[in-house]
Amino acid sequence: MAVEAKPLGLDGPAAHILMGVREDETIFPRAWAFERIGHQVRPFPTKHTNFPDASICAFDPKSGAWTREDGLTALVDHYALWAVKSWHRQEFGWWPGPQIGKCALYRRNEFDVREWCGCGSGIPYGFCHYQRDKQVPDELAQREFTALFGLDYQNRQTPTVIVEAARTRWKTLPALDSLIF
Ligand SMILES: [Zn+2]
Repeated sequence: MAVEAKPLGLDGPAAHILMGVREDETIFPRAWAFERIGHQVRPFPTKHTNFPDASICAFDPKSGAWTREDGLTALVDHYALWAVKSWHRQEFGWWPGPQIGKCALYRRNEFDVREWCGCGSGIPYGFCHYQRDKQVPDELAQREFTALFGLDYQNRQTPTVIVEAARTRWKTLPALDSLIF
């Protein structure tokens, strides 16, 4: 399903969110967000999106932050808050709030020094893993990332079928199975 969220108020910017939710519990919901749909499609930046399909990573699925009992409205709230954080970063240069960053390559490519480190320490990246991450040789950092995610760092983009659906303003929604990559 597709929703338009305006978490900053009706005069504020819109987050156009396409959600793929299945009844069975085997596959966790997926969602993609666009700042603009229609003729000029613009997906949100890829910060805190999943590899490789650039779907929204609003929270750790294993954390219990959202369960099916919480319902779809609560899920949209998570995605809308993610959009607010993305706008904050676009405006001020850093991502607000807790975040997960498990390896050096990911952190040094995507984390501002003012953001939470992501290792679990709860202190800013600049005061935590920043110096250590800089020392890690590129090849080792790349290998560490590939071992964690099973693919190369660059390999992350919104699937064509979803971009095309956004171009039609969701007049034609992709088949649910095509949303699971
Ligand atoms: Zn750290």
